Amino acid sequence: MTVSKADLGDLFDGKLPWDRTKAIVSGPKDDGRFQVALEVLQERVSWPERILLPLSEHLYVVEKTGEWAGERIVKCDCGYEFGDWRRNWKLSAAVIVRDDAESLEEIYPGLRRPDPELCEVREFICPGCGVLLKVETVPVGYPIIFDVLPDLDAFYQDWLRAPLSDTQACEDRTFEIIEEWAQGGPTPHGRPA
Ligand SMILES: [Zn+2]
Repeated sequence: MTVSKADLGDLFDGKLPWDRTKAIVSGPKDDGRFQVALEVLQERVSWPERILLPLSEHLYVVEKTGEWAGERIVKCDCGYEFGDWRRNWKLSAAVIVRDDAESLEEIYPGLRRPDPELCEVREFICPGCGVLLKVETVPVGYPIIFDVLPDLDAFYQDWLRAPLSDTQACEDRTFEIIEEWAQGGPTPHGRPA
């Protein structure tokens, strides 16, 4: 099924009528769907970097240009940059932790409030625009969840048949942030000093 850019845009915005939406999401995907989706998203952002993969409603993995050309980083649609895509962006976000009865009560009033002895709610917020990017509810003290580490090279080479200009090892490098904290603080956007 071929879907127009206009329909994809309306789909992203939640404006597409349900019968059309259902036909698109349950129908076979045309080969160019991902590229058309990227075009729609690229036209909506104000920055020049090429979007490689959307991660969520506001976050993208993009390819840097200029001084940092070739770097693949996580970027918010407002322009805020979280650093290398292999580092869990949540560790570079602003965080609200709801780990007591009073703060949990604000969003889960009454009997719905979870036991703060058992779990905590973490709200991850973009330092650039203040938008709420992600919420995770986990056992107290549970490590911050790395939602997804996409293998960009395998995706572009094996699935899209359009390899990226170079290959970069797909490995979790979140520990580098912890190391930088231990050494006195992170470098800007987690880049080499
Ligand atoms: Zn933002």
